[in-house]
Amino acid sequence: MEKEIILILFGLIIGSFLNVVVSRLPEKKSIVKPRSHCPSCKKAIKFYDNIPVISYILLGGKCRNCKEEISLRYPLIEAFTAFSFWLSYFYFGADLIYTAFAILFVCLLISLAVIDLTHMILPDELTLGGAVVFIVYSFFNPWLTTTDAVIASFGSALTFTGLYYFYLKVKKIEGLGFGDVKMMLFLGAFLGVGKLLVTVLLASLSGLIVGIFFIIFKGKTLKLKLPFGTFLAAGSYISLFWGERILRAIQSLFY
Ligand SMILES: [Zn+2]
Repeated sequence: MEKEIILILFGLIIGSFLNVVVSRLPEKKSIVKPRSHCPSCKKAIKFYDNIPVISYILLGGKCRNCKEEISLRYPLIEAFTAFSFWLSYFYFGADLIYTAFAILFVCLLISLAVIDLTHMILPDELTLGGAVVFIVYSFFNPWLTTTDAVIASFGSALTFTGLYYFYLKVKKIEGLGFGDVKMMLFLGAFLGVGKLLVTVLLASLSGLIVGIFFIIFKGKTLKLKLPFGTFLAAGSYISLFWGERILRAIQSLFY
């Protein structure tokens, strides 16, 4: 029980750090300096007003200085990161090294999902950085053969590159960003072929549903651009924890 509590507290602190990453990385600002400040009045936030989730509740969701509303995004990311730390331990706790890599993987997913949603970009620091870490780990990952990881990683990146040029040349639209291609490198390296297929299936289906929703109810056209990286991140998250179960369910439909 103590282990879980320490992990959740650690998750809250890392969640607070991810908030800094998702607000500063897309704007090419340093993620270490300066100290956090209110986006509205620019006043530096005191440490006691920067306690994950708790400060948001104590301050009633408003900046102490200018009383401007603080985005609900901050406590939500903190709470969700902490939950994800616990979930990783719950599922993979028997292998602590794998748990640590699962936690890192999930932190990358959360950051990429939010950055793509708000800025429509997937920074190389996260996609290519993640690719290096997870391709190296695939040589030591006891749950996945290196061949599986490498095929999923480079095979999917190649397939997505093909799709990228297909949309660009044939359909004259940017159906995918090149960031999605780079993102596949690290998703594949950690998930392997099976779970990656579940990821792409979930991402495409949810992207399609959201796209149709926007076209019908919000009057958007087919040229509507969706942050596909956000859908890929959500799909990968579900697939990391429940991918094998989903694969078995799909297989049972056919046999
Ligand atoms: Zn303020």
